[in-house]
Amino acid sequence: MTRPFQVLINSSALGHNLSIVRKHAPRARIMAVIKANAYGHGLLCVAEALSSVDGFAMLELDAAIRLREAGYSQTILLIEGFFSPKELALCEQYHLSTVIHHSEQLEMLPVYKRRGGLDVFLKLNTGMNRLGFTPEQFSFALRTLQSNATVGQITLMSHFSCADEINDKADVLEQLKIFNHTAAGKNLPRSLANSAAILHYPETHVDWVRPGIMLYGASPFTHKTSMELDLLPVMTVSSKIIAIQNLKTGDRVGYGYAFQANQPMRVGIIAGGYADGYPRSAPTGTPVLVNGRRTRTLGRISMDMLHIDLSGIENAGVGSSVVLWGDGIPVEEIAQSAGTVNYELLCAIQPRM
Ligand SMILES: *Cc1c(COP(=O)(O)O)cnc(C)c1O
Repeated sequence: MTRPFQVLINSSALGHNLSIVRKHAPRARIMAVIKANAYGHGLLCVAEALSSVDGFAMLELDAAIRLREAGYSQTILLIEGFFSPKELALCEQYHLSTVIHHSEQLEMLPVYKRRGGLDVFLKLNTGMNRLGFTPEQFSFALRTLQSNATVGQITLMSHFSCADEINDKADVLEQLKIFNHTAAGKNLPRSLANSAAILHYPETHVDWVRPGIMLYGASPFTHKTSMELDLLPVMTVSSKIIAIQNLKTGDRVGYGYAFQANQPMRVGIIAGGYADGYPRSAPTGTPVLVNGRRTRTLGRISMDMLHIDLSGIENAGVGSSVVLWGDGIPVEEIAQSAGTVNYELLCAIQPRM
């Protein structure tokens, strides 16, 4: 056999998750967030499965151009905007929309008078203090854009810091209040909601929603699983057992001898490790599925391999299938065990598909 590590993408699950976005935000236009190679799922394959959305959002100019050249005619938004006048020219050439979030970008706008080439999303910093103009700078930025003939449609946007924290409604509502106050009377389309806000804050949906993680079938919350949200996992990471070790009481396993058997046990060695994107921080006890049954990892994760406990799973041997996350075992369980979030795991995947 060839090395059995596999990353499978279920495109019908993408379609299902998109329908869940529509169910929650039936009146908003949908901007599917496909940054970081579509959260590790593969840009073009995800775009195809989601081709009915109203727009795509990403960071990378080259990926945006690739998408445009592949024939997608909807809005394609660069969520960190352009970094140089040359990139700005490419935005115009490929009709890419751009976020404008600081004054250096305003200064790069050309002064020549070509009508309506560039659609922009003007970003307002409502508290996250990452990107965007403060409410005080906002009027100046908006006037600058409105007086520049190059600029076409202007949409107002912001981003939430805490929409995923259930006990923290006040923070989202405060950001929303600042945004609404600043945008009042402007009669421009608006965009605020990420996955967590789509699911928990209907008042934030307005004109455009920007779902990311939920499209991939993963929960944006720590207190709610993807299953409770009726989302289906899109990515399934699987591999196989490539060797078996039979341990005696007291035998130890792997780097640092981080696990020691307190009784005789069978251990399976799996082709898959941190070079593939499985988190090295996952401790003994992180769940895995073998032949459809749940068991656990043992000891440290190696670069290309990991150990699993086969106690009580007599029918497992070399060649048995193992699901590391996805179908049957939500990625958030692995994330929680490894002390991180599902976002990081999905993006870290190195498909050697
Ligand atoms: C990544 C991102 C999103 C999507 O966030 P999820 O939590 O994955 O839904 C939305 N908007 C912006 C600006 C982003 O950077």
